[in-house]
Amino acid sequence: MTVNLLDFDLEGLTAFCEQLGEKRFRAVQLFRWIHQKGASRFDEMTDLAKSLREKLPSVCTITPLPVLSRQDSADGTIKWLFDVGDGNAVETVFIPEDDRGTLCVSSQAGCAVGCRFCSTGHQGFSRNLSTGEILAQLWYAEHFLRRHLNSPERVITNVVMMGMGEPLQNYGALLPALRTMLDDHAYGLSRRRLTVSTSGVVPFMDRLAQDCPVALAVSLHAPNDALRDSLVPLNRKYPIAELLDACLRYLPAAPRDFITFEYCMLDGVNDQPEHAQQLLDLVRRHGGRGVPCKINLIPFNPFPDSGLRCSPRAAVLRFGQVLNEGGVVTTVRKTRGDDIDAACGQLAGDVLDRTNAAKRLAQRRQTIEQPVRVVGRGPAPVKEGQA
Ligand code: SF4
Repeated sequence: MTVNLLDFDLEGLTAFCEQLGEKRFRAVQLFRWIHQKGASRFDEMTDLAKSLREKLPSVCTITPLPVLSRQDSADGTIKWLFDVGDGNAVETVFIPEDDRGTLCVSSQAGCAVGCRFCSTGHQGFSRNLSTGEILAQLWYAEHFLRRHLNSPERVITNVVMMGMGEPLQNYGALLPALRTMLDDHAYGLSRRRLTVSTSGVVPFMDRLAQDCPVALAVSLHAPNDALRDSLVPLNRKYPIAELLDACLRYLPAAPRDFITFEYCMLDGVNDQPEHAQQLLDLVRRHGGRGVPCKINLIPFNPFPDSGLRCSPRAAVLRFGQVLNEGGVVTTVRKTRGDDIDAACGQLAGDVLDRTNAAKRLAQRRQTIEQPVRVVGRGPAPVKEGQA
């Protein structure tokens, strides 16, 4: 099978080049061509020796993911649907703001965790993405955006592993992808601008702290185990106390001195003032000294058959007020891209109905040939507001 160079971090690419009898600096050159310049053909790589340029196509490729569709939101958010084969597709979302461009990247086709409020969770798990499939989302989006915005500068300044899937349940593929995102010869993101979001896979939170401590967001969504068991089934394996212990262990290595807790606001389920008070007590008292954190309240994005409703705005603000007055910085996330189903928890890709997925993907392949609206940064981006 031909090797896809998108599957390698620099260490892996160096080992591959050494097998070909090439020195490390050749791997650095290749890595820069691929990730910094967006090259997908070896004959573009003019500073590589001609003999190497001729040899590479017989042993490796640079294979991006086929794009099935692109949707542009009125607020400038862009969502791509990528074909990952066998009737599966994953989604990637670009969110432009005044001072940054954030890409939300998927790590799995579907998700095995099955959170009640999450569209991806409802469709079940299909498979892990490879390192190359994770990186291909960033590779494509970055170079597409540079071309269409006519920008010589990097457009994507932040990456959040918050798309489809639980990244820490695909750790082997995730780690080289994160290292490539951080590498100065590739995307050069700072560790503060690269966030892994997890529903609480405790052992791999510890591994990440050792291997590649980037910013961490934890999907909490409930202030007690009984409620969290019903919303995030993984809680039955790693209950809240264990999860918060793992957060405390993570912090010394983290690039920020706090953990972000995500809390999806569900009408009548987890949004009452007593839940806010319980949450406040939890994060302020856990382990005796509490967990340094910020809390992000996420308005629920309804999807068919969820049986859940978004909390009224007043309930969200009241909830945030309890936390802020208790000394925990709390923000309410603005919904972005909801006109194209790109908002948090709406990413469903195409694995829900596997019997029809292949048919729908084939239809999309036909329609992608049609012209799409020219991409721009869109109207002034919306900032997160403080509750
Ligand atoms: S919220 Fe995250 S972990 Fe939970 S089902 Fe959705 S993708 Fe999986």
